[in-house]
Amino acid sequence: MSNDTPFESEIYYEDDADTSHILNKTVAVLGYGSQGHAHAQNLNESGVDVVVGLREDSSSWGAAEDDGLEVATPAEASARADIVSVLVPDTVQPDVYENAIEPNLDPGDTLQFAHGFNIHYNQIRPPEDVDVTMVAPKSPGHLVRRNYENDEGTPGLLAIYQDETGTAKQEGLAYAAAIGCARAGVVETTFREETETDLFGEQAVLCGGVTSLVKQAYETLVEAGYSPEMAYFECLNEMKLIVDLMYEGGLGEMWDSVSDTAEYGGLTQGDVVVDEHARENMEQVLEQVQDGTFAREWIAENQAGRPSFTQLHQAERNHEIEQVGAELRSLFAWSEETEDEDETERV
Ligand code: NAD
Ligand code: MG
Ligand code: MG
Ligand code: MG
Ligand code: MG
Repeated sequence: MSNDTPFESEIYYEDDADTSHILNKTVAVLGYGSQGHAHAQNLNESGVDVVVGLREDSSSWGAAEDDGLEVATPAEASARADIVSVLVPDTVQPDVYENAIEPNLDPGDTLQFAHGFNIHYNQIRPPEDVDVTMVAPKSPGHLVRRNYENDEGTPGLLAIYQDETGTAKQEGLAYAAAIGCARAGVVETTFREETETDLFGEQAVLCGGVTSLVKQAYETLVEAGYSPEMAYFECLNEMKLIVDLMYEGGLGEMWDSVSDTAEYGGLTQGDVVVDEHARENMEQVLEQVQDGTFAREWIAENQAGRPSFTQLHQAERNHEIEQVGAELRSLFAWSEETEDEDETERV
């Protein structure tokens, strides 16, 4: 355990994990998607007894068996398990919990999540006699798997919501070690902090903020008479090069790598575009995450069959920048290179 880091959160590594807290247990991994396939295979290769839980008509059933794993229905897998790792999509978790997990939870079992939404917003209300934990890799599942195979780690989060047995944290750390996260570092957080920062980040910056910035800048150039191709390159395509630099070495490395003209213009105009008003809007977005407004809206949207989501999804696909981008990517050789998610070469 490293108390001497400059971070406010505790960070744990392999030395902090005692794998005996998981090696004598059976883990049911429900779902075999992005996270599920990685957790199941990594746990299995770390010597943990794993049973994958899938619906009988699931197309993943054969894939999991081909990967050498035992597969059962979600209810059967939950019944056999000491730890139920809930890795089906967040929107179906309450249903799977009610029908397959809850009837099969024994006192002292663990409910394990990779995202806090359903616990934090009370869509799943576990009984008091089980542990409730979160081990959440900070990366898509295919990287969790690939890193493990290459003897590398994937940073992850650990949170304890309920510690009935008194060993929830040790077991969570052992789980994190068994999927490879403790090799890189496991940051301790809470269900509330993980859920609210995750939703805020994806809405304000990663998914929402970035796409709106790109679209509005594209429209500004095209409406002023510039060519859609130039607008696409400047406002969307070059984004990756800039983000790669920030990922590698922070904002400083990015500013050091662009021209002085770009640095001066960026430093003076960035706050003109994303101004005080945008900041106030961000605070409002955060408030609606914190007070549950967003969660209620999204849950109701799902219950209604996703009418707004379907419309927004389609409108986004129909935006002119998408047609221009598809055409341009098909014309240039770099489209093949960008298919590799590992492509982070300096350009
Ligand atoms: P996914 O959509 O990739 O996979 C879901 C799996 O569940 C699929 O195998 C699907 O067939 C199965 N499934 C769907 N409905 C089911 C049902 N009713 N019963 C049984 N199985 C069903 O999901 P994911 O992205 O791996 O997300 C799983 C969890 O991990 C979520 O809580 C998510 O927030 C979290 N998470 C995801 C990522 C990521 O990068 N994908 C990162 C961190 C945490
Ligand atoms: Mg059990
Ligand atoms: Mg996130
Ligand atoms: Mg998210
Ligand atoms: Mg330029």
